[in-house]
This record gives sequence, structure tokens and C-alpha cells, in this order.
Amino acid sequence: MTNLDVRSARPDQLVSSDKGQWEIIVGLEVHAQVTSNAKLFSGASAAYGGAPNAHVSLVDAAMPGMLPVINKFCVEQAIRTGLGLNAQINEKSRFDRKNYFYPDLPQGYQISQFQMPIVGEGEIEVEPDGEDPIKVRIERLHLEQDAGKSIHDLSPSETFVDLNRAGVALMEIVSRPDIRSAKEAAAYFNKLRAILRALGTCDGNMEEGSMRADVNVSVRRGGTKEWGTRCEIKNVNSTRFMMQAIEYEARRQIEILESGGSIDQETRLFDANTGATRTMRSKEDAHDYRYFPDPDLLPLVIEKKWIEEIRASLPELPDAKKKRFISEYGLTPYDARVISSDSETSAYFETVAKGRDPKMAANWVTQELAAALNKKGLELSASRVKAEALGALLDLVKDDTINGKIAKDVFAKMIETGDAPGAIVEREGLKQVTDTSAIEKAIDELMAANADKVEDVRKNPKAFGWWVGQTMKATGGKANPAVVNEILKKKLGV
Ligand code: MN
Repeated sequence: MTNLDVRSARPDQLVSSDKGQWEIIVGLEVHAQVTSNAKLFSGASAAYGGAPNAHVSLVDAAMPGMLPVINKFCVEQAIRTGLGLNAQINEKSRFDRKNYFYPDLPQGYQISQFQMPIVGEGEIEVEPDGEDPIKVRIERLHLEQDAGKSIHDLSPSETFVDLNRAGVALMEIVSRPDIRSAKEAAAYFNKLRAILRALGTCDGNMEEGSMRADVNVSVRRGGTKEWGTRCEIKNVNSTRFMMQAIEYEARRQIEILESGGSIDQETRLFDANTGATRTMRSKEDAHDYRYFPDPDLLPLVIEKKWIEEIRASLPELPDAKKKRFISEYGLTPYDARVISSDSETSAYFETVAKGRDPKMAANWVTQELAAALNKKGLELSASRVKAEALGALLDLVKDDTINGKIAKDVFAKMIETGDAPGAIVEREGLKQVTDTSAIEKAIDELMAANADKVEDVRKNPKAFGWWVGQTMKATGGKANPAVVNEILKKKLGV
């Protein structure tokens, strides 16, 4: 296995304890729900929600004699995703039965892909905040069905089963163990999410469980090459929990190893209430899934021509977009990454930036707008300030109708009311005062009332800020700051 071990942790990523330094090794298996109207092998709706068992066909319920029929669109989505992950598309793949018994799995097996997945090896670039980019290799992507849901908390004595999810198409995306910290794991997951959302192959909605990760964690002493025994943490559904789970699990393993114990290979659960992981099942009770090719389904043979057609239809992906934002708009790499990581944000930004100062547009989108939406717990799509309206606000600053400070006040009103910036400026009388006589009058009054401070600013240039602030205040914040500065300097003789 050592030939797969292409990365060593950086020194600052090692975990220190009394007895030495340890490297964390992480690999992720991400289940991503395919964006599709229908399920993988039936025509039933794949929509989220709905009354229990409202989206269940006879195939999903595994009625006798029912046969699965592959949904071509789901296959196309898997190919599109593979291309977006710079991965090999396998022209021949196959569906296998993964056998296990559970009440929410009416077939008694999950149709998955075991030996021959539709997508093979790929690689993506990941950029943890404030760190150099890393490459994370993708081992495979395969298509499989989701299971139904057992509901245990509606009755003290009964379990209910909802099969709405049963048969919904999932892509399981397996990374190589190339991740060396909790932060890198979160960055990988976010990058994957950004790519899938840009491709339109998974909506990435975490609350609805559209993306969830099984996190494989092991540790080894810093500088060594042997792999440790790994534990798998199941079904982690947020990057915050993922980071907590990795950090907790690494510490747990280090403590065991340092006290002379050994790690049992097992499946564990992360408990968000305690921040700890606990045993779910050990290797001894690991399932033997008795995989075998599903006799009801033919091997999947994909024509090269179709792959090329899909490739030609790929949208601009986050990496390409980031590069373009740097070269075309002169954004910083950080701003370019933040804006390009989401198609909606980048489209919004480009509308605001069109014909305007792109850096100013980027600042407003990543700072004022992001903070306001975050405070309200809103997605960009729910913003009352549309891109055109934010652009109009920037125009009012550009043509000196209002100053930058007032623009923030106007924006705060826009986000509450959805009103146009021009209307707010008119209604509230916020137009910038460029009338020098009004500004001069305000300064004269200030100087008369603060003779001591006039003396002070002539000796101490740092006191100038006070004068600017007071003049702005006296004009209701509406004065043109450049004009204020100019008149102040003249009158104060500084
Ligand atoms: Mn799976």
C-alpha cells in the first residue's frame, strides 16, 4: 500500500502529545444524491419530502416480479460528475447486489457497483483556508440506490418505514487517503460540493442529507510510513461535525496506542451532542455482503461519443472560474476562490461587476452582502437585494450621489425592504452634500466652538481625523469626504 502514500503531513499538521508526534490520515467516502426527477431504477419521484411512502413504485417496494430499469439521466449525471473530477470514465461497468437484511431495504439487497464502477481514478485540487493547495486523488465513483428510512421515535413499541428514499440514485465518491488534517478534510468536502453544484449533478443540500460522508481515520507516528488501523465514522453530515469527529477520533487512537494498546478496526458513530465518536459495530460483526452481479441488469456500456458530448456540455467549473476571476477582474486569489466556489454567487458577482469596479463589487458581495445574509440565515437566492440593485447602489457611489458610508446605510435598508437604492436615497434625503458653502459653514462653527483643538491639530497631525469625523457628523454623514478633507486642510492650515 505504501505506493499510494504520496503525501506526508507538514510539520504543523502533526498532533503533539507527551510521547511524540503523530500524523493523521483521512480518506472520505461521500454519498451524493444525484439531481434527477426520477429514481435510479424506477419512474417514482426522487423529490425530497412528501407524505411517507408517497414516492414509492412497485419496483421500489420490491414487489415480486418487478424488474429494475436503469434511468439514463442518472448515468449521464455520473459521467458528468466523473468528468468534473478529472476522472477516468469506464466504458464498461456493472451493477452488483450488495446483500443485507434491514426493514428499510425491501429488496434484501442494495443495487450498487462493486468491482466495475462507472468512474475510475481522478484528482481534484483542494485549497484549505490560508494554506497551499493540495491534490486529493479520487479512487472511484459508483452509482447505487439509497435505502428507505426506519422511524423509531413515533411509537414506543413500533418502528415505521418510509420508502420515499428507497431507490433514489446516489453517487458514492471515494477518495484516496490523501488528507492529513481535519481542515483539509473539510476543504476537500467543500470543494467536492462546489464542483457537484456547478455541474448540477447534486444540489449539495446538507440539511436534506443530499451529501454525507463516511470518514476513515487512522494515525501513525510522524516520519513513519506504515499505515495504522483505521476506523470509519459513518454518515457525517456537516463539515463542522466532520472536523470535530476527525480531531476526537485521532486523539482517541493516539491515547490507545501510546498506552500500549492497539486499534480495533471498527465502524463508529459521531455524537454531535458530546463531540465524541463511539462504537457502532466492530470488524467481527462486519457484514459479508455476498456481492454478485445483478442478473436483472445488463452491464452498462457507454459509447465514447456520448462521453464526448457530455464533456462538451460541461459548465465552467470552480477552478477555471477562479483563474478567470483573477485574470479578468484582478481579484485576489482569496476573493476569487470564495466567489467562484458557488455558481450562484459567481453569477451574482459578475452581474454586479459588469461595467463597474470589480474589486469594489467583490468587496460588497463577499463582505456586506455575505454578512447581511449570514445574519438573517438566508441563502443568496432569498436575498431581497438582487445583483442589479446592488450594482445600482455602486453606481450612486461612483457618480458621487452618495458617499461610501451612506451606501452602507442604504444597503441595510435595501436588505430589509427590497427597495431600490435610488428610491431610498430620495425618500430619506441622503444625497451627498457637495455644496461647499454648507460644508464650510459647518467647519466654521466647529472651529469657533473648539479653539483649543484648532491649536492642537496644527501641532499634532494625528488629530485631523477628529475634525473629519465631526464635520461628517455635523452634515448628517452626507458630506463628500474628499471635499471635507480639502476644505478642512485649507481652513485649519494643516
Ligand atoms: Mn455506499
